[in-house]
Amino acid sequence: MECVDCQSLLCYRGDQEGFPGCPMEDRTIFDESLELLKEDPILKFYQTSCRIESKGYGRWPRACEIIQFCKDMEYQTIGFAFCIGLKREAAIFNQLLKCAGFKTVSALCKSGGIPKEVLGLSDKDKVRPGRTEVICNPIAQALRLNQQKTDFNVVIGLCVGHDSLFYKYSEAPVTTLVTKDRRLGHNPVAALYMSESGYLKEAFDEVMGETVREDTR
Ligand code: SF4
Repeated sequence: MECVDCQSLLCYRGDQEGFPGCPMEDRTIFDESLELLKEDPILKFYQTSCRIESKGYGRWPRACEIIQFCKDMEYQTIGFAFCIGLKREAAIFNQLLKCAGFKTVSALCKSGGIPKEVLGLSDKDKVRPGRTEVICNPIAQALRLNQQKTDFNVVIGLCVGHDSLFYKYSEAPVTTLVTKDRRLGHNPVAALYMSESGYLKEAFDEVMGETVREDTR
């Protein structure tokens, strides 16, 4: 049984044991996870995130949750890695963080100005072929924030995959303020809500193939 297909949701009700085939049959990973969650400093981090969830539940937007989380964790320096397409939004968030008393360090995706050709990308791989384009460099973003010894890092609109590399190379814990989705006003869940409507048909057909998608309905 995969959790995504489960109708009983025994775990959600606090049952300690599931039915045959439920992942709860094997307690090993739950025991291991508890050992890890109880380790210092993970326990404080985990408890703080739970308290943030309950304090502002349904009232606070994510930006407020992040700021309160940083306050409650007593962080001093907050880093943020942002996309050039979200420069204005990054500046607003920076102001909010400064007003809340934090020191900030920022890293733009294009920092370094390295042409795409350096990493084996050709003209046809560019967003606008025929023009100079420089790479997004999520590893450089992470290294800059690591160098400045940020306590906590925030992602503002990095591309799919670039965000993964930033998460991988950041030494400080990371959360995401904005998940970039240029088509849907940075609201990617809307694609799921509309996946069976005609509105995004062309996009889904392009990446999934029409036949495959018909089978998933
Ligand atoms: S852990 Fe078991 S009970 Fe919980 S959602 Fe998964 S399959 Fe269902």
